[in-house]
Amino acid sequence: MAVSARRKSIAFFITLGSCLVALAVALNVGWIILNWREVAVLVFGIIFFVVIIVGLVLNTTFLIREIRRNEQHDAFINAVTHELKTPVTSTRLYLQTLKTRDVTEEQRQHFYDVMLADSDRLLMTVEQVLRAGRSSAGRRIQRTNLDLTEIVKECVGVVRTRYNLEPGTVSYTESLDGHAARVLGDADELSAAVSNLLDNAVKYSDKEVQLSVQVAAIDKNRLAVRIRDRGIGIPAAQLKRIFKRFYRAPGRFMARVKGTGLGLYIVRSVVEKHGGRVFAESEGPGQGSTFTIQLPRADTK
Ligand code: ADP
Repeated sequence: MAVSARRKSIAFFITLGSCLVALAVALNVGWIILNWREVAVLVFGIIFFVVIIVGLVLNTTFLIREIRRNEQHDAFINAVTHELKTPVTSTRLYLQTLKTRDVTEEQRQHFYDVMLADSDRLLMTVEQVLRAGRSSAGRRIQRTNLDLTEIVKECVGVVRTRYNLEPGTVSYTESLDGHAARVLGDADELSAAVSNLLDNAVKYSDKEVQLSVQVAAIDKNRLAVRIRDRGIGIPAAQLKRIFKRFYRAPGRFMARVKGTGLGLYIVRSVVEKHGGRVFAESEGPGQGSTFTIQLPRADTK
């Protein structure tokens, strides 16, 4: 209901904006034709005409952008509420069962495992929201000299355990130039960025999870972390947009996979704070995706 009401109001404002622009064009063109002999008035007329049109276009663009932002906020609040509520509801159910029923030791252990997984999920959502808040607040990072390969290997280990992945599903390789892969940065923040990309690579792999992770030296000044999956892929038009805060690409698959739209925003903020950049590549839907983080090397500074 709310979405369709909002769509109607968007349509109304776009139509209103377009009608106003058309009306202003008609009035001004008519006015110019009627007064074309009086050059001074004509010049003023043209200037006012341009000002009015630019104003109207800016106004309409601003309005549309604000409405889109509001929509994304709503979607984010829904997603976060869902992400917070689901694990709490599930844990509550298991606790009630443990309290009111006799369960075998095996069932009890299984319940504990599920509750632990739920609390991990809850913690991850809370951390994600807090981290996104810190990123927007522009907090400065604590820099230390780190080995990037250690960070990436640790994140790969965590994602393997978190999703119970078979040993062959995530390959890790290094393509270095004989020098260590050192960066100046915050280990916690860089781990969060790499983990977010790995989590997404698993989440957006439809049936078969097959990831390849590589730490490579681009040149003597830059290092790259490449994470490739064989998942649902990304349409070309979305490759940049997905890094925006709260943005989630539309699609049927997306309705099944829950998320807050914060992950890639956090990745971009962390990487940019480290003086690097991140970008996505994909051959298109169904063709998998590759995310690359580029970071400046520490040892050449
Ligand atoms: P979330 O995963 O919570 O939706 P993100 O900011 O991590 O938010 O990702 C934004 C969007 O980018 C996702 O909703 C998804 O549409 C797209 N996306 C991210 N990673 C991948 C990937 N590896 N493959 C395909 N699509 C992806």
